[in-house]
Amino acid sequence: MITNYINARIIDKNSNYLGCVTVNDKIIVYAGPESDCPYKEPDNTVDVKGYALMPSFIDMHCHLRDPGYPEKETLETGMRAALAGGYTTLCAMANTRPVCATPDAVKSNTERAEKMQMCRLIQCAAAGYDLHDETPTDYAALSKVTRIISNDGVTIFSDEFMSNLLIASTDYGFIISTHCQPERHIVARDIALLKKLGGNLHIGHISRSETAQMVREAKAQGLSLTCEITPHHLFAHDLDYKVNPPIRTEADVCALIAAIKDGTADCLSTDHAPHTPEDKEKGLAGISNIEHAMQIYLKVFFDNNISLKRFSEMTSYTPARLLRMNAGLIKCGYLADIVIADTECKGFIEKDKMISRSHNTPFDGREVRGKVLRTICGGKVKYDNGLLG
Ligand SMILES: [Zn+2]
Repeated sequence: MITNYINARIIDKNSNYLGCVTVNDKIIVYAGPESDCPYKEPDNTVDVKGYALMPSFIDMHCHLRDPGYPEKETLETGMRAALAGGYTTLCAMANTRPVCATPDAVKSNTERAEKMQMCRLIQCAAAGYDLHDETPTDYAALSKVTRIISNDGVTIFSDEFMSNLLIASTDYGFIISTHCQPERHIVARDIALLKKLGGNLHIGHISRSETAQMVREAKAQGLSLTCEITPHHLFAHDLDYKVNPPIRTEADVCALIAAIKDGTADCLSTDHAPHTPEDKEKGLAGISNIEHAMQIYLKVFFDNNISLKRFSEMTSYTPARLLRMNAGLIKCGYLADIVIADTECKGFIEKDKMISRSHNTPFDGREVRGKVLRTICGGKVKYDNGLLG
């Protein structure tokens, strides 16, 4: 089955041009000017009407709360919200109930997600049993079923535990995604250990100016590491809403934007963390934001004059490279994981219309930019809001 997407504003890390994209089954088989397209008699033609056609987004960091907290979110509700937000690959953190600490637990979630045929799921595994930095999980076995090991939600304080985890990440080829609180202290410690021991370090949700500077300096010294920024740490400052790490100051937001501009920051991740109203009242940290992440990012990028190519690099290309996926570019031979979006329209966050099971956001009524029109995973339309016709 061959589909031509014509009149598309094709945007990825390398390009921004008007053209045609041909999808055959699960794969992009052509991207370029429509006049040069070799597929003259496709089964389907979709007129994209000049809207943006980009690689769909890959979230290196979200919480789907499954198993254990169906009142907050499930694989199914989280993936439905994700697809509405333009995401087709999700790395779900391991702080479920029970904690995802064994190969069986990881496989159980990935197999369930495969049957649902919504998003691609990478179920992260815990680094320590019960997310403690005491007894390590079986890194050799876990690295065969997942790409990311993380105690996210809980900081690894033990230097010895972190050292062994870094060494294992080289031995077994997995990525460590860290949760750093206190942020400056733990990021400094982890960079020092990385310098000594090597390893595959991905620093989760950096939020401070000083942390961005530490990553910048580490990269300048030739260290190989990556980091991510969330929507809420870019979209808010001095706001009393409980997230971990906390919302910071305006100076920190400016520093994060500078880190996006100069390549210090690698990925944009959502840290989608759904909670019930009761749990938020109890003081639990987290924001439900996967369906608004693109709109927040586009607003921030537009307001700060950062290109859509850079946006695509941080939401698709770099995560795909880290996850070793053949995705993240609109290019012949790549997976047909695609989002079609209006990147220019104004919109507003409407809490009551959220698809996620949890509606915990401080951004109700805030102006954002852009709208997802259609989300395609493996060549199949998984979300369509009807606006494209
Ligand atoms: Zn975290």
